[in-house]
Amino acid sequence: MTTQVVIIGGGFGGLEACKALAPAIRNGRLSVTLVDKENFFQFNPLLPGVATGAVETRHIVYPLRRVCQELGIRFVRNKVRTVDGDRRILHLHNELTLPYDRLIIAAGSATNYYGIPGARENAFPFKTLMDAIRLRAQVVEMWELADQATDLATRRRLLTFVIAGGGITGVEVCSELLHMFTSTMARLYPSVPQNLVNVHLVEAGERLLGGLRQEHSDVALAHLRRVGVTVVLHRKVTAVDAANVTLDDGTVIPAHTLVWTTGIRGPSLESPWPWPLGRAGKLTVDTGCRVADGVWAVGDAADCVDETGTPVPAVAQGAMQMGRLAATNLLSELDGHPTTALRYRDLGYFVGLGKHSTVASMMGVPVSGVLAWYLWALVYLVKMVGFRKQVEVATDMIKSIFVDHDTSQIHERRRMLRDVDMEPRL
Ligand SMILES: Cc1cc2nc3c(=O)[nH]c(=O)nc-3n(C[C@H](O)[C@H](O)[C@H](O)COP(=O)(O)OP(=O)(O)OC[C@H]3O[C@@H](n4cnc5c(N)ncnc54)[C@H](O)[C@@H]3O)c2cc1C
Repeated sequence: MTTQVVIIGGGFGGLEACKALAPAIRNGRLSVTLVDKENFFQFNPLLPGVATGAVETRHIVYPLRRVCQELGIRFVRNKVRTVDGDRRILHLHNELTLPYDRLIIAAGSATNYYGIPGARENAFPFKTLMDAIRLRAQVVEMWELADQATDLATRRRLLTFVIAGGGITGVEVCSELLHMFTSTMARLYPSVPQNLVNVHLVEAGERLLGGLRQEHSDVALAHLRRVGVTVVLHRKVTAVDAANVTLDDGTVIPAHTLVWTTGIRGPSLESPWPWPLGRAGKLTVDTGCRVADGVWAVGDAADCVDETGTPVPAVAQGAMQMGRLAATNLLSELDGHPTTALRYRDLGYFVGLGKHSTVASMMGVPVSGVLAWYLWALVYLVKMVGFRKQVEVATDMIKSIFVDHDTSQIHERRRMLRDVDMEPRL
């Protein structure tokens, strides 16, 4: 009999599981359905480029229906609302249900605001393509209003940008913004005094890029300070409203733009998952990514340690390795074979510092500067899904060496100067 497998989420982990199950689909052992609330796969590492107009929005996404068609998988574009673990049924929107024999949960993560007053309402999260589009529109809006404002305090507030979180995403967003401001905005807005532009990076830990090589933390810190970013370490954001960001030492930074790149938590449904949750509200899994009988969780959604007891980081390579393992273990269980534990392999990382500079660690070897940027470009191009996307992103990367950032405001967020302190964020 054909086993019905359902995978929730077509991100890095879910797609890798799909690919690993493809041979069993072809020989008729499995029928697989992928359900995702979006109809595209999104390549997150290039989101900072989208937020600053260095990379074209559509170039970092790929239609999930096409991938599924190639692999013989049924695609359902819908949101999983609740799971009935006893009856093995997913409840979706439009009163639809999706029964399963085996389930792989690869639903990613959600932004964690840690209950900080005003953060959910006022901060700009940075997880999705829409977040990147909104942030780009907000940044351009602030420059447009600063161009029209006449008093100094208003202009300074409009041109102050605070980034919470000094991890890879925070450092990359900060670097890309600075690159955009100095290379594009300064020329486009000649009447705006550049000394009014302030970018603050607030990190709660003792160094930037915690968990990565110390030398790369030092390079990133020195680079950001050199280009004029105010880096604040050992500090947390404790409150935010439409016009101010408050830190835990009482400092108030007048700013309309707080970008929230810190903190993730497990994905939530309309009613709780029917299985235990571990750290940060993620699904607890064993070293083989198993949640319960017939259920696996992978990627950012899973609280997983590998066979050495080391927690698997919430990064794309972790999600991909877990996705492959969950699929393999699913097949092993069906065959009555023993399952295997995850042996997480850290392949390294890239951190973009804007202006075609990067710090990287590849298989433990540190690289930095322009050479690292070329490697970054090469690796990301290889990892893009589909030849067309590879060509499009390659074109963007080459273009970014010669031309300015695209500052078109596609997302509607026009405001009047007098509204800027009052209007809630869209
Ligand atoms: C801005 C940014 C930059 C990053 N840069 C890097 C980087 O350079 N290198 C790196 O290794 N990692 C990076 N990461 C982290 C990496 O993207 C994640 O670790 C990875 O995407 C996790 O994969 P996943 O499959 O668990 O989840 P995701 O890739 O997030 O996929 C989850 C999928 O589940 C779907 N989904 C969620 N809930 C539901 C639901 N209820 N019903 C149906 N579908 C649902 C979502 O639509 C999504 O398609 C970055 C992340 C961000 C946000």
